[in-house]
Amino acid sequence: MSEQTAQPAYLTELEKVINNVIAPAAVEIDASASFPRAALDALGQAGLLGLISSPEVGGLGQAHRAAAQVVECLATECASTAMVVCMHYCATAAIEAFGPRAVREEIAAGRHVSTLAFSESGSRSNFWAPVSTATPVAEGVRLDAHKSWATSAGQADSYVWSSRAIAVEGQSSVWLVPASSKGLSIPAPFNGLGLRGNYSSPVIGEGVVIPAENLLGTDGGGADVMLGVVLPYFQVMNAACSTGIMEAATNKAVTHVSGTELTHTGQSLADLPTVRAYLARMRIKTDQARALLQDTVTALKTGRADAMLRVLEVKAAAGENANEVTDLAMRVCGGAAYRKEVGVERHFRDARASTVMAPTADALYDFIGRVLCGKPLFD
Ligand SMILES: Cc1cc2nc3c(=O)[nH]c(=O)nc-3n(C[C@H](O)[C@H](O)[C@H](O)COP(=O)(O)OP(=O)(O)OC[C@H]3O[C@@H](n4cnc5c(N)ncnc54)[C@H](O)[C@@H]3O)c2cc1C
Repeated sequence: MSEQTAQPAYLTELEKVINNVIAPAAVEIDASASFPRAALDALGQAGLLGLISSPEVGGLGQAHRAAAQVVECLATECASTAMVVCMHYCATAAIEAFGPRAVREEIAAGRHVSTLAFSESGSRSNFWAPVSTATPVAEGVRLDAHKSWATSAGQADSYVWSSRAIAVEGQSSVWLVPASSKGLSIPAPFNGLGLRGNYSSPVIGEGVVIPAENLLGTDGGGADVMLGVVLPYFQVMNAACSTGIMEAATNKAVTHVSGTELTHTGQSLADLPTVRAYLARMRIKTDQARALLQDTVTALKTGRADAMLRVLEVKAAAGENANEVTDLAMRVCGGAAYRKEVGVERHFRDARASTVMAPTADALYDFIGRVLCGKPLFD
C-alpha cells in the first residue's frame, strides 16, 4: 500500500483562502499595518477558525500538528495573519478545555475570534506571574490590569486573560473576558517593526466586571491553563510561524540569485559558490526547525517522556534559526533586499518577534537548563 495519504480537506480549503485572499493582501497588510479581517472572515467560512474545536461543538477536532501546519502555511505568505490565527488557536485551546459551550460553538462556526491577554506591564514577559487583580463584586468579578500586549487587540471578540488568583496567595487565575466588556481600552494602535498587521497593542482593564462563571479552570489554577494547556500550542505554532517565514525567505532568495545576472561575467549570482553556500545553510536551518517541530508534535501526541523538553526547545530553536535565515536572505540578495523589491525584508522584520515573544528565547534557555540539571522550572 502506498504511504501517501490524501491531503485533509481543511488543507485544500486553506490553500484556496491563501491563494485568493491572504497572499494578494500580504504586502499591503504589512505596509499599512492593517488587521487581516478579510482573511479571518474567509478562514472562518472555510471552517478553519474551528480547526482545534471539538466536533461535539461543530469543530474539526484537530490538535497540535494540524494547528502548526495551518500556521506554517499562513506564515509563508503573511506572518501577521499567521500570528493572529496562532493566538486565536491558543485562546481556543483554553476555551475548549474550560469555557462555556456557547462560545465554543461560535468559535467552531467561525464567528468568534479570540486571543491571549497574558503579558503585563508589571511582570512583562514573565506571564506566568501576573500582577493584575481579580476582585469579587456583587455582579461577579472585577478585573483591573495593564496588559502590555494582546494580538488582535480591539479586533478579537474575547480575551483569555490572566490575573492574580482571588483566594489563593501567590497563584494565578485565567478568565474569559468578552471584548464588549465596559472598562476595556486600547491606548494606542500597534506600530511594530514586523508582524505589522497583528494588532498587538496594550489593553487596559479598569473595573471590568465579568460573570464569575467566566473563570477558566479554577481560582489559583492559572498555571494549569497557561502552562498546561496553552503553552504547548503556543510553542509549536510559534515555531511553525518561524518555519513558514524561513521557507518563504529561502525560496525568495533562491529565485532572486537564480534570476540575477552579473553581465560583465555572464554569470548569475547563483554561480557564486559563496552565495550557494549561504543558501545551503538557510535550507539546513529551515529543515532542522521543521524536523524538530514534527518531532515535538509527535512527542505530544504519543505522550513521550521528553515531550515538555521538546516543547521548550522548539520555539527557541525555530526563532533563532529564523533570525539567522532571514539575515542570510538579506545578505545573499544584496542591496536589492534592502529595498522592498525582493520581498525578503518583510520576512526579516517578521522573524524578529519570535525570540522576544514570551516565553522569550532567553527564558526558554533558563527553563531548558533547569530541566537538564534536574531543577524545577520556577524557584
Ligand atoms: C508581535 C508580538 C505579539 C504579541 N502578542 C501577544 C499576545 O497576544 N498576548 C500576550 O500576552 N503577549 C503578547 N506579546 C508579548 C510577548 O509575549 C512578550 O511578553 C513581550 O514581547 C515581552 O516584551 P518586554 O518588553 O516586556 O520584554 P522584557 O520582559 O522586558 O524582556 C527584556 C529582556 O529580558 C529578558 N528576560 C526577561 N525575563 C527573563 C527571564 N525570566 N529569564 C531570562 N531572560 C528574561 C528577555 O528575554 C529579554 O531579552 C506579543 C509580543 C509581540 C512582539
